Amino acid sequence: MKVAVVGGGASGLVAAITASRNGAEVTILERNSDCAKKLLMTGNGRCNYWNQNQDFIHYHSENLNMVEKIITIENQKKVHEFFDSIGLLPKIKNGYYYPYSNQATCMKSLLLKEIELEGIQVLNYFFVEKIEKDNSKFHINPEKENLIFDKVILATGSRACPKTGSDGNGYSLVQSFGHSIVPVLPSLVQLKAKGSDYKDWDGIRTEVLLSLFIDDKIEKEESGEIQLTSYGISGICTFNISGLVAKALARNRKVTVLINFCPFASNEEEFLSWFTKRNHSLKLETVEDLLEGFLNYKLIPIILKRANLKKSARWKELSSLEKKSLASIIIQFPLEIIGTHDFEKAQVCSGGVPLEEMNPNTMESMKEKGLYLTGELLDVDGDCGGYNLGFAWISGIIAGNGVISDD
Ligand SMILES: Cc1cc2nc3c(=O)[nH]c(=O)nc-3n(C[C@H](O)[C@H](O)[C@H](O)COP(=O)(O)OP(=O)(O)OC[C@H]3O[C@@H](n4cnc5c(N)ncnc54)[C@H](O)[C@@H]3O)c2cc1C
Repeated sequence: MKVAVVGGGASGLVAAITASRNGAEVTILERNSDCAKKLLMTGNGRCNYWNQNQDFIHYHSENLNMVEKIITIENQKKVHEFFDSIGLLPKIKNGYYYPYSNQATCMKSLLLKEIELEGIQVLNYFFVEKIEKDNSKFHINPEKENLIFDKVILATGSRACPKTGSDGNGYSLVQSFGHSIVPVLPSLVQLKAKGSDYKDWDGIRTEVLLSLFIDDKIEKEESGEIQLTSYGISGICTFNISGLVAKALARNRKVTVLINFCPFASNEEEFLSWFTKRNHSLKLETVEDLLEGFLNYKLIPIILKRANLKKSARWKELSSLEKKSLASIIIQFPLEIIGTHDFEKAQVCSGGVPLEEMNPNTMESMKEKGLYLTGELLDVDGDCGGYNLGFAWISGIIAGNGVISDD
């Protein structure tokens, strides 16, 4: 059986190896000069390729039930077996998996060695622009190279980070077979805030609790480190709410993020009581001095300005209204979010081919027999922490097995 894998990224490489191990004659068609360009950028070059807790609650899709059917314990086991079989040793930090060498190059190299050992043909600089089906055979670029295959695995990725080759062209390939597309939006991406006075906090990294409100209703909370930037906010916590933000903004909803810069106090009262005790137990008297020690020093003048307090203001001399105003700014620093950065900066996309148009046991399209879809092309995106590569591996393995299945 001749199988074409369109796209030599994360899911395509794993699908190709799995299909070849099942006896298929596999060809990878990759538009770039080499495979796995995006993979090299993952985890800041360290490739956070998996998470110990692959629970489906870390994924987002219009059809989470189907995600649950795909991310099964059995399929997770197959991913571990796959990486054992190519010789990848994991290093696990807080549940995040990396190659033991801490290098994404190691992941790429092991996958490509296995491709070579399996005798899989890789055609680089091969851009698939059209696929037609005729008499149960697929014709790739019928008016040009006209390569003929029994089955096709489409692993062309999303629109995120298009310089890596995944620029969204795969959506028109699947649409030509009658698939629909859940609107594609940037996710795991930076957020832009209303206003222009953020340059003073540019570059600050700080521990916070972020609360996302859509139309004044709380939608999600994330705690950890964020990066304050000249346009708004970035960092892992920000990325993990960005998918919801992009969807809400696309529906013209009001999006507000409240930043708690003192995350060990859950509300203003707790903060005020802790801060008053701090003032009693220390010799420090000015608010500025009292803020030092837990707030980034670049943040202090910004907080004081927002709370309308002078640098020299003494805690004991503040009115209860002034104290409350300071607590409110520290515990609920408001940002009105007006946009996300675009696909160039996004790590992944939300949206894609709806999962109800797929068979979750094989990743075969319900629209076209013999056509299989994997990875980010589908309407699934995950939180930061290895979930997106996690889905790429799982869906790739299912498709590589699916091509020989009768399901
Ligand atoms: C900067 C960055 C950091 C990331 N870090 C992490 C991380 O640490 N952990 C994590 O889990 N996820 C991470 N991700 C997300 C992860 O890389 C993707 O979710 C994953 O690579 C998706 O795999 P895929 O196979 O669907 O698509 P891709 O890996 O994007 O591969 C698609 C391939 O198809 C090729 N292609 C596209 N169209 C055609 C065509 N018409 N003809 C031929 N070839 C074509 C492309 O050139 C590309 O090689 C990161 C993403 C980015 C951008």
